[in-house]
Amino acid sequence: MTQYIQPGTESKFVAPIKTTPRGITWQCANVPCKVESNDGVNIKLLPFNGKAFTILNENFVSEFYHLDCDEVYVYAPNSTYPDGKIAISEFYIKSISIKKLKKHFESKKNILDAIEKAEQDAYHSKGNQFCATIDKYNKYKADPKTSKLERVGDPIFNRSVRHSPPISKTFTRENFENSPSYPAPIGVREEDFAWPSEQNEILIELLNQIFSCENAPVCPEEIISELGLDIKPGSHMCLWCGNVMDVSIMNQDYCSKEHSVNFCHRIPELGTKKGNVYIGHCSCNREQGGYSEAERIDQIIRLAKYNPAYREKILKELA
Ligand SMILES: [Zn+2]
Repeated sequence: MTQYIQPGTESKFVAPIKTTPRGITWQCANVPCKVESNDGVNIKLLPFNGKAFTILNENFVSEFYHLDCDEVYVYAPNSTYPDGKIAISEFYIKSISIKKLKKHFESKKNILDAIEKAEQDAYHSKGNQFCATIDKYNKYKADPKTSKLERVGDPIFNRSVRHSPPISKTFTRENFENSPSYPAPIGVREEDFAWPSEQNEILIELLNQIFSCENAPVCPEEIISELGLDIKPGSHMCLWCGNVMDVSIMNQDYCSKEHSVNFCHRIPELGTKKGNVYIGHCSCNREQGGYSEAERIDQIIRLAKYNPAYREKILKELA
């Protein structure tokens, strides 16, 4: 039998040509997979964005291709990762476990909800109801004569880890239908993308904010030092209205009441990135709308420019 990957070539990287179902999950196109072991028959692969799986060496050539790497990066020019490369160190970054923290606050529903929401936002992309299920994908593959009018699948995963390939907003339906993965998903929204190291930073940042709100319960010292939290009690503000956030207004029903709490983005288009997401008021977030803070300022400046009364008011307020 031809040895497509010679045994003993571990720590090399390969990537699948297209997205295909692997058990109950998707194995995503062009995502680097580290060759964990290879006995000549079976190759164990660890994909950057998923769990390890084993393939038959004889299937390698029809399903995978080799990637170049050096000591720092693995190069994936066919992927949509920023600059077409991944720092190999990112393969080894584990998400932070906050089991202990959740256990400690399990009886405080509003805090627990906020912690869980922070964890969800830090590590997972948003859902997408248009993404094909594996079942639908298999049906389509068995009988692709689907009407042109019926749209099958979507390039964006229905929830995934955030370090799946980012899919640009300029990627069209036609691009998707011409992709070898079609109708399987191939990545996450651009604004949902973050490297594993960034995801950990985002989680810590959000936890710092939760426990720095007014009326936040005291986080045990042991957990603070274990997670490396930096809590400044009663200091965390909503950046839109400038008021200190109060955890006692965190409602049971997320964002259902006017003054409940939301994860706000200073530049909505940038999504959940470090420094861009903060815990603020739902109502304030609604007021900001889809605009960035800077865009709102530009709008105010424009208004003031042609209206002396506004200009005067602003200068007076800021004096
Ligand atoms: Zn506010």
